[in-house]
Amino acid sequence: MGTTNESWVDRMPIGFAKLLIERGDDDQGFHFRFLEINPLFELIVGLDRTMIIGKTFHEILSDSLETDCGLHGFCERVCNEGKPQTYEQEVACNGRNFQVSAIAVNDSELILLLHDITELIRLRREMKDSQEELEHLNDRLYRESITDEMTGLFNRKHIMELLKKETARAERGLEFLTIALIDIDYFKSVNDEHGHQFGDFVLKEFSKALVDQVRTMDYVGRYGGEEFLLLFPGTKIGDAVEILDRIEAMLQVNDFRKGDIAVTLQFSAGVVEYHGESIDYLIRRVDDLLYMAKAKGKSQVMLD
Ligand code: GH3
Ligand code: MG
Ligand code: MG
Repeated sequence: MGTTNESWVDRMPIGFAKLLIERGDDDQGFHFRFLEINPLFELIVGLDRTMIIGKTFHEILSDSLETDCGLHGFCERVCNEGKPQTYEQEVACNGRNFQVSAIAVNDSELILLLHDITELIRLRREMKDSQEELEHLNDRLYRESITDEMTGLFNRKHIMELLKKETARAERGLEFLTIALIDIDYFKSVNDEHGHQFGDFVLKEFSKALVDQVRTMDYVGRYGGEEFLLLFPGTKIGDAVEILDRIEAMLQVNDFRKGDIAVTLQFSAGVVEYHGESIDYLIRRVDDLLYMAKAKGKSQVMLD
């Protein structure tokens, strides 16, 4: 059988130590005394072999470092487990990370292998960081791709996708679904009288008001300039109209104000309850109803 002072041990790219296992007389547990080490082990511990051989962990490592490395405790666990087998644990020592393997060769000898994994740990951490960064970026890109930048509502593309999903869901579950297309009345005059910037402000505030007034299960999307598509899943047309009436009532008592400029708004809307029609038909129908509401003098809700 080979001995540990063979040259291959010295050339091993990992720290190697052979320790004598000493059992305390009383309950003091084990002592581990260094019998052999290779040059890399010296380098890792930062001590010359003459200062290591014949010593215990506590004698060569400062108390705080030993506590950090936990090598003694680790070896004790290995011995307590009894059987000759390999145990592995990651420890930090002198600012570097090691994968420690211990093999209880027999009752009196234990081999310790220290594999420097500092670089691996650093790469792992870097990978985790960049993965998290990528996930955040992905989330942000997705949110941006479905959001209307100015109002923060769903954009037209996404509200149409939601409409597709909701019609499919309504069909599967035989649930109600009502949609409404609403358009602010006389909005051009807001811009004309108070400027485009104030118009933008009003659109943002109006969007917030819509979101506040609908239920959490409803969806609000910006369909066009001052046109909004609302989806009311699981909702009969009568209940959706009630929500629109509530919004109308809210607009009557609240104005949109910035500095000394204030405007009140009203809207017209077309409302349709879904009964298996195509998306194209639904949109055409709700748009026709909105047009009729405008033609009939605005500030009203038209339904089938
Ligand atoms: P109606 O009562 O028939 O709906 O008339 P209206 O003036 O509301 O509608 P019209 O279609 O004549 O004009 C829409 C106006 O909405 C004109 C357009 O400049 C304005 N608008 C559309 N998008 C924006 C926007 O992002 N910001 C601002 N400030 N105005 C917008
Ligand atoms: Mg309008
Ligand atoms: Mg319009």
